[in-house]
Amino acid sequence: MITRFAPTPSGYLHLGNAVHLRLLTLLAEDRGWQIALRIDDIDPDRTRPEYIADIHDMIEWLEVPITGAARSQSQHMDEYALARDELVTQGAYVCACSRSEWQGHEGAGCPGKCSHLELVTGETALRMQVGDDDIVVWRREGIPAYHLANIVDDDAMGITHILRGEDLREATVAQRSLSAYLPQSRFAEIEVLHHDLLIDDDGRKLSKSAGMQAQPPPRTAEVRARIEQTAHQLLGTLTTVRP
Ligand SMILES: [Zn+2]
Repeated sequence: MITRFAPTPSGYLHLGNAVHLRLLTLLAEDRGWQIALRIDDIDPDRTRPEYIADIHDMIEWLEVPITGAARSQSQHMDEYALARDELVTQGAYVCACSRSEWQGHEGAGCPGKCSHLELVTGETALRMQVGDDDIVVWRREGIPAYHLANIVDDDAMGITHILRGEDLREATVAQRSLSAYLPQSRFAEIEVLHHDLLIDDDGRKLSKSAGMQAQPPPRTAEVRARIEQTAHQLLGTLTTVRP
């Protein structure tokens, strides 16, 4: 059994990430899971080396036992492209419509007349109808959308358990549905646990209020104790989305 920590190196990790990682470690110890590391660096414009170094620093500070080498998304573009091509055979379609054109659009297919277009980086995206929504599966920037990359990664890493914040509950549902169009995928069999989000003293979501930080949180004994206490509180909020 194996789970993963999958941070995005687009900023320094905040206190919410630290609590999440500590909670993941507590669960893994309790339930006998291994913990793998995935670096979500698919978007080169947002990734910086110091943010990747910060991830490793946080892991070391919290003494998280990581199994195996880290998987960096940027190194696996060929795998995402294979999954993209599979989705094209399953009904994914090219679309050039903007977010505002999609807003309030009802009915089947895209709001524009995109059926004659081809997938071109910088110009068009690939969408797919999943449930009631037409979600982007391949971005205009020429990279996989989060949902697709996540499914491919979790399959490649053999992930059996996922821990996520409550804010990703809809993502879990969308990814389960999307994975049904990838015949090799075992993603739908993964047990997904969601924890409540951290609220700061002003009642805002910690991950949002923390925002883009100029520096990581201080790695003091006091902060460490707060992380420990909060992680234990969140243990009581877990809900499972079973396959
Ligand atoms: Zn369109």
